[in-house]
Amino acid sequence: MSLPHTAPAAEDTAAGAPLVLRSGPPVLTVRNATKAYHGGVKALDNVSLTIGEGELLAIVGPSGSGKSTLLNIMGTLDLPTDGSVEIGGKDPAGLSDRRLSALRGRWLGFVFQQFHLTEGLSAAENVATGLLYAGVPRRERRPLAVAALERVGLGHRIGHLPHQLSGGERQRVAIARALVNRPALVLADEPTGALDTANSKAVLDLLIRLNAEGTTIAVITHERDLAARLPRRVEIRDGRIVADTAAHTGSPQ
Ligand code: ADP
Repeated sequence: MSLPHTAPAAEDTAAGAPLVLRSGPPVLTVRNATKAYHGGVKALDNVSLTIGEGELLAIVGPSGSGKSTLLNIMGTLDLPTDGSVEIGGKDPAGLSDRRLSALRGRWLGFVFQQFHLTEGLSAAENVATGLLYAGVPRRERRPLAVAALERVGLGHRIGHLPHQLSGGERQRVAIARALVNRPALVLADEPTGALDTANSKAVLDLLIRLNAEGTTIAVITHERDLAARLPRRVEIRDGRIVADTAAHTGSPQ
């Protein structure tokens, strides 16, 4: 398997080091975000969150806690009614649709529970759609898509159509599509929600490995077991962040 990225040196986890949470400069900042709907329902209530380069975190909470609303705001798919968001130093509020698409295409990669692959397209063509808004010349898209598929262990499935792939493989294609443009942040919405236990573990292992290779990833989930495997957990309940915990372990995943 060839890796388009150079894997960084292993984390320095000298015995007794208190923390392995990696966190560089912020890639995304949510400041005092509130999302209120007609009738006074607050799906989010004064939420602040900073994600630093290199992090792997879970945003975890039960159904109805506000995860989707927060994800939509982080992904610039929705705006808060109060407060602000900053991605790559830019506030999406006030941007035209075209500039918003460009911001999203340049900074963010999305992974969904139901994969959202296009049925008539091969794995490589699906991954190449992740480059549509990136200004990458057409002839360069396929090699980049193939490299991304190799990176997720699917170099032998390049020409397969989605229906010829297992659920776990489809999700790995979707992850390759999210990665192909080397986004600053991958937002994964219940990425294992449609998978059986073995495939869920494989996908989570993959996300952990990609993070170790330098990709910043936020996983939105209602599964506490999944969240427990990640170095940072942001717990959300009734639209508020009720805990933000970093793992105190020196052991590699
Ligand atoms: P989760 O993703 O954690 O299940 P959501 O973000 O979907 O939670 O929802 C949070 C709260 O906001 C819920 O009480 C939900 O009913 C409410 N909500 C979400 N979208 C709307 C909407 N368009 N109009 C009114 N209330 C909404």
